[in-house]
Amino acid sequence: MIHRQIDVALGERSYPIYVGNDMTATFAPTCRQHGIPDRLVVLTDGNVAPLYLQPLLKHLRHFKFDVTSITIPPGERQKSLQRAHAIFTGMLEAGVGRRSAVIALGGGVIGDLAGFIAATYHRGVPLIQVPTTLLAQVDSSIGGKVAVNHPLGKNMIGAFYQPKFVWTDMECLRTLPAREIVSGLGEIIKYGVILDAGLFDDLEANIDRILSLDREAILRVQTRCAELKADLTSQDEKEAGIRIVLNYGHTVGHALEAAGNYRLLNHGEAVLLGMIAESSIALAMGMIGRDVHDRIVGLIRRVPLKFRANALDVSKAIALMSHDKKSIAGRKRFVLPIRVGEVQVTEGVDRSMIRSSLLSTLNLYKTKSR
Ligand code: ADP
Ligand code: ZN
Repeated sequence: MIHRQIDVALGERSYPIYVGNDMTATFAPTCRQHGIPDRLVVLTDGNVAPLYLQPLLKHLRHFKFDVTSITIPPGERQKSLQRAHAIFTGMLEAGVGRRSAVIALGGGVIGDLAGFIAATYHRGVPLIQVPTTLLAQVDSSIGGKVAVNHPLGKNMIGAFYQPKFVWTDMECLRTLPAREIVSGLGEIIKYGVILDAGLFDDLEANIDRILSLDREAILRVQTRCAELKADLTSQDEKEAGIRIVLNYGHTVGHALEAAGNYRLLNHGEAVLLGMIAESSIALAMGMIGRDVHDRIVGLIRRVPLKFRANALDVSKAIALMSHDKKSIAGRKRFVLPIRVGEVQVTEGVDRSMIRSSLLSTLNLYKTKSR
């Protein structure tokens, strides 16, 4: 059933996010209600397809939709122009026309790639986001950022293209590998620190329930994150201003992700570490006191993040940070906490401070060898 509807207010591009559990039975009627065309293409990956594709296709066909599916291998490497080209070819050969819609059934990779396809196929066809990972449900499926990667940089080719609606069914999380729950918690804790002390309190009280996928706890947190992201998107659709607060933990996080060649750490894991490092920078700069720092780090430390900290090259991460697309004229901008629930954009953080915060963060995760 649908537990909550959250609206992203963007004039004629406004759309709802439906959050709930066991929602499949009402998907097709919701498509009808939104005037989605009869011809549908579901894009998914090889892990999600065996779990959720057939029931969805059967349901849509029962409601007389003409639906085909494309299943690609899982993984970030699929977010490429080559893969997009192959998908376009498949759609053109199958005679998918201008009056059709694309359904993204999967995690962030599928959401970004299917979004890119929908934004450009026949100059744009309707897009429906059906996120199946915690990270995609609370973050990447909302806000309209769609892209593929280029060998010279992640998400370098893309658009802002809003979906017709987002369909978040928490029951999908039960099949998700534990590591992906950890990753989603990176973005969830981020929302608490940057915008919402109440959410942060909730996480402190209930993180164990969230980790064990307690329905009430998950739905409450998903709803809150969706509201916060919807609100930021309404205020700043194209990321020209306030939406920058979403980058807390990401300046350092992106660099760590890249330093580990996107294998050692996935996105959300890197954001967890980035938030610890950036909180240490805020402490060193006197923007927060020890109490706030310890609260943030204490919560993050309760997330069971495991990775080979010894294998991460700090110097490489620092070098990568100087190339980050979000630095303006070479000056690194950090989004740093000033209390729980509020952040400030800061420039002029010195290199030695970045280095020592990174080292101390990784030290927390180094296993003692004797
Ligand atoms: P993210 O959403 O974290 O950005 P991906 O799209 O790469 O990342 O998804 C992470 C991994 O989880 C992929 O291997 C994907 O196939 C798999 N996956 C996605 N949703 C589910 C699910 N509900 N159950 C099991 N595995 C899933
Ligand atoms: Zn992120």
